[in-house]
Amino acid sequence: MQRRSHAAARESFDAYRLAASRGELTGELDPAALPRLADRVTGEGGQVRWSIRGDADAEGRPAIVVAIEGAVPLTCQRCLGVVVEPVAQSTLLLLARDEAELVRLDEASEHEVVPAGAPLDPVALVEDELLLTLPFAPRHEGECAPVAGASA
Ligand SMILES: [Zn+2]
Repeated sequence: MQRRSHAAARESFDAYRLAASRGELTGELDPAALPRLADRVTGEGGQVRWSIRGDADAEGRPAIVVAIEGAVPLTCQRCLGVVVEPVAQSTLLLLARDEAELVRLDEASEHEVVPAGAPLDPVALVEDELLLTLPFAPRHEGECAPVAGASA
């Protein structure tokens, strides 16, 4: 298995500490390098900038805001050409120390809840956001262009 050099940059973090300090982590990644996205991303060239910011919800409960922005090359389900899907998403996630708190918060709040009793992997959080954001059946808007470079 090939490891990419930027994979070494991923370091898990204490989400509660980030929330309390209102800290921020940022990074950049190639979506094709994410294992759960690899079969949907068509080759190289995609780029996603991300940030994870410590925050709180309106009731003061600790939270993180995961923001992603960039472009992900996917396969158009109509012409099988490449369609570059822009992503720009910001999601507030409440923190839960354990399963019981996760269930309680999930019932009490409209926000999503993330188990944060153990250190979190920022890249896995970004991958989750991308999985939720990207369309399952991507298509070119309007007409599909003839596939460039398709030789006979
Ligand atoms: Zn198309």
